[in-house]
Amino acid sequence: MDLFEYQARDLFESHGVPVLGGAVAFTPEEAEVAAASMGGRVVVKAQVKVGGRGKAGGVKLAENPSDAREKCEAMLGMDIKGHIVKKVMIAQAAPIEAEYYLAILLDRANRNFLVMASVAGGIEIEEVAHKTPEKLARVGIDPNVGISEAKAREIVLGGQFPADVVDQVVAVLLKLWAAFVAEDATLMEINPLVKTSDGKIIALDGKVTLDDSADFRHPGHEALVDHAAADPLEAAAKEKDLNYVKLDGQVGIIGNGAGLVMSTLDVVAYAGEKFGVKPANFLDIGGGASAQVMADGLGIILGDSDVRSVFVNVFGGITSCDAVATGIVQALNMLGDQATKPIVVRLDGNNVIEGRRILDAAAHPLIQQLDTMDGAAARAAELAAK
Ligand code: GDP
Ligand code: MN
Repeated sequence: MDLFEYQARDLFESHGVPVLGGAVAFTPEEAEVAAASMGGRVVVKAQVKVGGRGKAGGVKLAENPSDAREKCEAMLGMDIKGHIVKKVMIAQAAPIEAEYYLAILLDRANRNFLVMASVAGGIEIEEVAHKTPEKLARVGIDPNVGISEAKAREIVLGGQFPADVVDQVVAVLLKLWAAFVAEDATLMEINPLVKTSDGKIIALDGKVTLDDSADFRHPGHEALVDHAAADPLEAAAKEKDLNYVKLDGQVGIIGNGAGLVMSTLDVVAYAGEKFGVKPANFLDIGGGASAQVMADGLGIILGDSDVRSVFVNVFGGITSCDAVATGIVQALNMLGDQATKPIVVRLDGNNVIEGRRILDAAAHPLIQQLDTMDGAAARAAELAAK
């Protein structure tokens, strides 16, 4: 889950990462009140989960509370790269002397964490990496070892920070690492990390991604979820513990194993070109899928009003094809009238003959069986186009 900037700010504050005062506002009135309580100049910042707000007009200085109110009013409803602004953060303004960059992220390719630090901040880090790579320190962090003070110093020096801020940036990096570990984050990025005119180091903009797989360890993270933005089908799937991602096509997809489902999406996308249809979702029901899981999955997909046909593509492994076939039949019985769209099933693998026999014997009017993945994908696409 990605956090809004104001949530990242609050999280940083709770872990001792230095930030300035900030408050979220949903209306111009709230913006004015927040600005008045901070006194002096403030910055009005659009709260959208996308970078580059500054350039897009989503970060504005306000001289006083009524100015903050006007800036907020102008910003609400704005479209920033496809994200509509529904709230702003009122932040204490900082007199900036220099902008730096600091981030910790999960480095999947190398199976560890990565710290990036640079004296060149405020701009996109890709640009720094491209144009002045010597100013960007990239240091892998062994999760079993973490970041010691000496390591932090080595990183900060590698990022070419000036001597007068090194101690402070080292301290921020250590706090950020502690926060990263404590919250089970996969990304914590500060851009810019600034030096103010009185020499203080402050995190002015924060980007945080929390690892959803660790949610069970963090009951507090639930409060950070943006329920308003969640796709209702994805939310329903999540409630049932299904690995479901909504896409914008018409052929519902159910498969077992992420790899098989991904290739199913490819095959359906290819077969669908001719008919002008695409996969409607990703849904992996996993290895040991029970009838209940099949029913839950079918229920979600049939609840998608864009879906016009469903393709169930299962390779029998630990759960054999006969169990899957029984599951499909039971699922359709459970769903009753809710099941209204044609379902193309392709079974293969462990005990496939018996699986196919069970489906044939059930003779359900919605089910069509095909032997090959390509053939089934083409049929599902054709049915969706009708
Ligand atoms: P982003 O564009 O979405 O990354 O938003 P940021 O929060 O990083 O803001 C973009 C830029 O606005 C920063 O790099 C700063 O130059 C400027 N900015 C943000 N907050 C302040 C502030 O409090 N004071 C001043 N003077 N500039 C700010
Ligand atoms: Mn930024």
